Amino acid sequence: MGERLRVTPAEARLDRVSFNPKTESSDHVIEVGTYVCPWCSKSIQLNTGTLRQFQEAKVSPLGAEWADRCERVRPIGPWEWAADFRCAGCDAAVRIIYGHDGEFAMGARKYRVRHVVEEIPNAAG
Ligand SMILES: [Zn+2]
Repeated sequence: MGERLRVTPAEARLDRVSFNPKTESSDHVIEVGTYVCPWCSKSIQLNTGTLRQFQEAKVSPLGAEWADRCERVRPIGPWEWAADFRCAGCDAAVRIIYGHDGEFAMGARKYRVRHVVEEIPNAAG
């Protein structure tokens, strides 16, 4: 441990930060957002299904210590959730923080990704 964490605006890492379930049900288009790892450039795709799954999860898949460290640099507010995973390319831990976008759409709320918490590998500056 001992790696530092960095909070980055979602727009800097994802090509899409707004996910609308209504678009998916009416146009049959899955809105996909791609997160690009700043350390190894591996990309990871997210969609409303991914976000919904993380919303329903009660504990972080990366463990309580990671969750506590993230909470210290960027607390999760009410109606916010975290998607925690490790980069498939370089194993760096990532937390994507997202919330509701305020509007109902067909009984489901839109999601908006707000921040990304990234572990800075010891080897990097
Ligand atoms: Zn990576």
